[in-house]
Amino acid sequence: MTTVTHALVYPIVVAIDGPAGSGKSSVSKAVARELGYGFLDTGAAYRALAWHAEASGVDTDDAASVIGCLESFDYRIGTDPAGYGVHVGETDVTTAIREPHISGIVSRVARVPEVRTHLIELFRAIMAAEARPGIVVEGRDITTVVAPDAPVRVLLTASEEVRMARRSAELADVPAEATAEQLRARDRADSKVVDFMTAADGVVTVDSTELDFDQTVDAVIAVIRGSQPVTG
Ligand code: C5P
Repeated sequence: MTTVTHALVYPIVVAIDGPAGSGKSSVSKAVARELGYGFLDTGAAYRALAWHAEASGVDTDDAASVIGCLESFDYRIGTDPAGYGVHVGETDVTTAIREPHISGIVSRVARVPEVRTHLIELFRAIMAAEARPGIVVEGRDITTVVAPDAPVRVLLTASEEVRMARRSAELADVPAEATAEQLRARDRADSKVVDFMTAADGVVTVDSTELDFDQTVDAVIAVIRGSQPVTG
């Protein structure tokens, strides 16, 4: 009988999915900081592509035109959880991609299969190149499509009411009802492409409805510690 010993493959990937307003981004960033891991916000790439399509005068409703602008999409993102910049070519779009207008159109580019294939390859290359011992990757399809073999996979959820309230607190100058409606519309559109509301087999659900921020970070770290072989 031959025994095959698998060397530990680094970086350790922590895959986190969840709906808009679940706190994925801020929680994942804090978890990465605490563990000395890298952090990858995959939604930023879809947002940056929506920004690029508009800046190029492309109709984001037309899939063929969106696919056409992938070729000129020169996207760069860092993985430092303490501060990462998002660039398209020479333009720093870190702030611009968070605007409600981009949130309103991003699902149109994210539903195009060719876009997803292209970006998933990019995410896997960024994950493989991570120099830290691990990387926290967050999005909608990380646990199921981008990194289904990740040793730690978490679905971060919260009740719709709590998610709406958290997001509208972040966007203080936009009426709460408008923010809530946009969030609902985006979840509806996104969930036609990927199911991020129910945990796939082997994915641990962390429901943050009753948890504050620090408790949510601790809950995710507990899942990570519980999933890894004890070393040292
Ligand atoms: O996470 P965030 O809200 O920034 O994501 C923006 C959009 O990018 C989502 O609404 C979704 O359309 C798309 N997205 C996706 N798959 C991911 C991450 C984000 O389709 N893994």
